[in-house]
Amino acid sequence: MLKVDRDTALECDVVIVGSGAGGGVVAGVLAQAGRSVVVLERGPNAGSRDMTQVEGDMLSSLYLDGGLLMTKSGSMPILAGSCLGGGTVINYTTSLPLPERTRAQWDRHSGLSLFSSPRFAESLERVNRRLNVGTRWTTPGMRDQLLERGCHALGWHVDVMPRNVTDCLEGLECGFCGYGCRHGAKNSTDRTYLKDAAAAGTRMVVHCDVGRVITERGRATGVVGTVHSPAGKPYKLTVRARAVVLAAGAIHTPAILKRSGLSNKNIGRWLRLHPATAVMGVFPERVEPWSGSIQSRYSDQYADLHDGYGAKFETAPAHFALAASAFGWESARQFKRDVARLSHLSLCGVLLRDRDAGRVAVGRDGRPRVHYELSHYDVAHVRTALRGAAQVLAAAGASEIFTLHTPPVRVRPGERAWLDRFAAAADSRGYRYCRMSYIAFHQMASATMGADRTRSVVGETGETYEIRDLYVADGSAFPTSSGVNPMITIMAIADHVARGVDERW
Ligand SMILES: Cc1cc2nc3c(=O)[nH]c(=O)nc-3n(C[C@H](O)[C@H](O)[C@H](O)COP(=O)(O)OP(=O)(O)OC[C@H]3O[C@@H](n4cnc5c(N)ncnc54)[C@H](O)[C@@H]3O)c2cc1C
Repeated sequence: MLKVDRDTALECDVVIVGSGAGGGVVAGVLAQAGRSVVVLERGPNAGSRDMTQVEGDMLSSLYLDGGLLMTKSGSMPILAGSCLGGGTVINYTTSLPLPERTRAQWDRHSGLSLFSSPRFAESLERVNRRLNVGTRWTTPGMRDQLLERGCHALGWHVDVMPRNVTDCLEGLECGFCGYGCRHGAKNSTDRTYLKDAAAAGTRMVVHCDVGRVITERGRATGVVGTVHSPAGKPYKLTVRARAVVLAAGAIHTPAILKRSGLSNKNIGRWLRLHPATAVMGVFPERVEPWSGSIQSRYSDQYADLHDGYGAKFETAPAHFALAASAFGWESARQFKRDVARLSHLSLCGVLLRDRDAGRVAVGRDGRPRVHYELSHYDVAHVRTALRGAAQVLAAAGASEIFTLHTPPVRVRPGERAWLDRFAAAADSRGYRYCRMSYIAFHQMASATMGADRTRSVVGETGETYEIRDLYVADGSAFPTSSGVNPMITIMAIADHVARGVDERW
């Protein structure tokens, strides 16, 4: 860690902005290849001692904008990590590979031949190895047992989630991992790739907000940032480099590109968010939906409703604040009742693979603004999947089911025509414009990779079409949404981009 206590200038081969899934991998790969690397991270370096697991504390210290970032219309909160290790520190450890079919679809869509290539397969394999991805620590907590029970009863697909953990204590505190794993079992980039990078001499600066890329005669030659030490005054940090890699996540990477004067109209334009909603079930047994393995089962029963688009069923740890913020409003009495019985609630999460896009713009203050509303095409899939999620919970034994609409749709499975009543009531409330709660855990495709420079921002190497030696290596580069939880795919793209930089040098 480099302490910056005055205006400072550094030099290196590669400066990397952001230390999450993308930035962490690029740092590890290039540093181990002998390159001199500087990593600039806007968030703090949180050690396990700082991880109190208290929702309010951890949201404000480890999440982007304290967990309060919203789409412009207020229809969707956007959750992302912001600390050394980025999203990999606070994510749910689900380590699904990009499916073969999506890889082929991405090649067709982008006009590249990367995603189905052996080179990309090797990147995926390398990442899986470094992260120790496997199914050894996947004992299901109660929420995942109920998901599995419901799917089995219906004869539907359900499978075990691969995870990037080592010696995970599973049941004990694993449900709190979304606020950092204080036992060090999660193989986040700060415990893997950034460690490799540090061992190879990489310098890292935290609390460093990068404002813009320095460009000279069409080439990137460095970045300028401001270091905000938690106590002291801000200092200017200038880093000169042979190459600049942006990995600030799919909300901030396009904002940096725009602030740096790039004018490609595709920057920020094809943003996907994988909007996630859920159906809640009330169970006679104690579920404690905040506990147990953080995520260990999923179902692809509705994942391919049309052309590879649809929704995955997954559970997620429902702690008090997250649940309370997502529950729809009916009355104070009902809200209190739902929150008070949280320990008997479970959920079937609906994770949408969105086909249609929103965009990231930049306000006059230079900060990103996220514009996103669900299209009618994507709403049709939410609608079908919501009905499926209700069936899963009913088959698992829920006595009452409710949605995250305002006001919620409430039904009792077993009563006459309950499913039709559920679907009709959900339709009448609607699915867009704040009618139902969603959360965007996965941001991607806001600086897309593609062969056509009129439709994308970066080429196959990750280098921008507009400025030489300026690369994008994070979720922004996805050609479309992945449909699977994106960490492993982001890391594979970052591995590919980093190796390319090294090979060309
Ligand atoms: C609660 C939660 C659970 C999730 N669970 C899973 C899961 O189980 N499996 C999965 O595959 N995915 C999961 N995800 C998503 C996954 O973690 C992200 O998609 C992934 O981390 C994104 O990688 P990235 O490199 O694009 O950006 P990030 O990992 O978000 O890293 C970007 C970093 O850049 C920094 N930054 C931003 N702007 C600047 C700037 N101007 N200057 C300097 N630094 C900057 C940020 O602080 C951040 O640390 C989850 C996400 C959340 C929020």
